[in-house]
Amino acid sequence: MAEKRDYYEVLGVSKGASADEIKKAYRKMAIKYHPDKNPGDKEAEEKFKEAAEAYDVLSDADKRAKYDQFGHAMGPQGFGGGAGGGGFYSSGGMSMEDIFAHFGDIFGGRGGFSSDFGGFGGATGRQPRQHVNKGTDLRITVKVTLKDIMNGVDKKLKIPRLVACPHCKGTGAKDGTAFRTCQRCHGTGYVSRVQQTMFGAMESESVCPECNGEGKVISEECSYCHGSGVEKKEEVVSFHIPAGVEDGMTLTMRGQGNAPRHGGVNGDLLIVIQEEKDPELIRDGDDIIYNLMLDFPTAALGGTAEVPTVEGRARLKIAPGTQPGKVLRLRGKGLPQMNSNVKGDLLVNVMVYVPENVTDAEKAAIESLKDQPNIVPTSSTAKRIFSRLRHIFNKENRGVE
Ligand SMILES: [Zn+2]
Ligand SMILES: [Zn+2]
Repeated sequence: MAEKRDYYEVLGVSKGASADEIKKAYRKMAIKYHPDKNPGDKEAEEKFKEAAEAYDVLSDADKRAKYDQFGHAMGPQGFGGGAGGGGFYSSGGMSMEDIFAHFGDIFGGRGGFSSDFGGFGGATGRQPRQHVNKGTDLRITVKVTLKDIMNGVDKKLKIPRLVACPHCKGTGAKDGTAFRTCQRCHGTGYVSRVQQTMFGAMESESVCPECNGEGKVISEECSYCHGSGVEKKEEVVSFHIPAGVEDGMTLTMRGQGNAPRHGGVNGDLLIVIQEEKDPELIRDGDDIIYNLMLDFPTAALGGTAEVPTVEGRARLKIAPGTQPGKVLRLRGKGLPQMNSNVKGDLLVNVMVYVPENVTDAEKAAIESLKDQPNIVPTSSTAKRIFSRLRHIFNKENRGVE
């Protein structure tokens, strides 16, 4: 790699040059080597970049002070911190995009350039572009229950939206035909504009403000929509929400949003999914969690318990000696994953109810239990049970023993 030239040398100024002198010097270089004046000239492009990099550093008091002290030895990172610093030159100098983005204010905005080299011009490039009107997007929120998520659901909603005026076919012109060619752009949809920038006069092209790029203007307005080409209408929209959706997901229905003024492409309808909280079931991805409160006798002696599922209730067998913290898994009773046959599980998290208020008789009965040999756990019993239940403290493994 060639040795980096001194920034002052690049701009042709002395070390003590004022900010104004630096700016003037840069302007001179930038005009001389500007890509519009030197199409296809690689060397000019390099000089243009070199000058921009030098100007970036020398026009910033902070960067300039660091450069004066350390020179190029600091490397690109040496200029980190300030805007545009750190990695700015990391791939062998500034790219043309960097220069225009970085010095956009000086150049009078990117639109000020109608250049022939790639990457610039944005909407105002020299190449004529098809100008397409697009309507605005509509956003609606749709509430879904766990059951909807389980099976997917068809919805029908009344949505007020802008539709094309039927009298003028959305054009805004009487009968859809009352147009004349735009005088301002002579039907091209674009106008040239000469702008004074620090490089002198620059020509740019922009969308014709008279006809919004359509190349024609209405000679007589449609009397139904007053020339807008649209009318507000409440329409019923049907759509399907697939199984497995999640809260916050957005489904897009292309072309179901608002119609644009004066014809073109409709915007989209964005359907935002809002999951209704179930009073008993907790969703966890495609699994569903239910906290079951068992009474002590059933937990100790075994029996059955009824648990809710997304679709109706289910009976569950409770084994004798079921501990609080045990998780019973009902396979496939969870929710489906989107676009898949995989279904989650229903996880029944067992808790055992300890009476909070007791009568005298209950108190006596419970107290008498304490004297029985199998009621109070030994330390080895506790150890054995904890080892089986350890998973409840481990987020990674919600599995069942
Ligand atoms: Zn026009
Ligand atoms: Zn109309």
